[in-house]
Amino acid sequence: CGIVGVLGHHEAAPTLVEGLKRLEYRGYDSAGIATVNNGTLARRRALGKLANLSDLLVHEPLTGKSGIGHTRWATHGAPSVNNAHPHKAGCVAVVHNGIIENFKELRATLAAEGFECTTDTDTETVALLTERHMQNGLSPQDAAYKTISALEGAFALAFLFDGYDDLMIAARKGSPLAIGHGEGEMYVGSDAMALAPFTDQITYLEEGDFAVLSRSSLDVRNLHGEAVSREMRKIKLDI
Ligand code: GLU
Repeated sequence: CGIVGVLGHHEAAPTLVEGLKRLEYRGYDSAGIATVNNGTLARRRALGKLANLSDLLVHEPLTGKSGIGHTRWATHGAPSVNNAHPHKAGCVAVVHNGIIENFKELRATLAAEGFECTTDTDTETVALLTERHMQNGLSPQDAAYKTISALEGAFALAFLFDGYDDLMIAARKGSPLAIGHGEGEMYVGSDAMALAPFTDQITYLEEGDFAVLSRSSLDVRNLHGEAVSREMRKIKLDI
């Protein structure tokens, strides 16, 4: 139900939890984060309040300066740790707001090729499909793009990849997503409020946008796959 992401210069975990706190008002049943630390992708997830995730992070810390976080409002699959985001398949981690309408067809196609779902969610198909494309030799960018082209439904998505400390992919169709620009840092959030403690320089993705982020760049393709530039605005927020 809420998404936060960061490619930063500090530990990502506290930033992600702080951002997720600012999205709590939307409601949620579970929460989780994933980070990349010196190329290694790892995640932590907890049922219930964000405090449970924070407690877990005290006992099982997650280091790394790149990360994505999620608060889930279950639509497909009961609220559980296993169904909580980020979903991971091989070297891909994904957080998702919305519903993938054609997840059953995607799941069947994936299963026929030996890529089995291990959760009850619609979202896991996004991670699996991207992992499959990467196993077939595509770059993370091309794999995520191909995956998103096959999705029906409404989504805001953020991807993180094992082996890539300076790469995040974000996409939106039917659910809003904002990009935040820091000093050599880049953020993603379901809304600008989530990013208010970190930056007031915001680029709103438009419907159908596909964005490739590094700490120093934001490349956006529109619905038709054309490179576009989206305006960055300085916004006023009460923190
Ligand atoms: N449909 C996804 C799920 O049930 C995402 C729900 C959400 O937007 O939080 O896991």
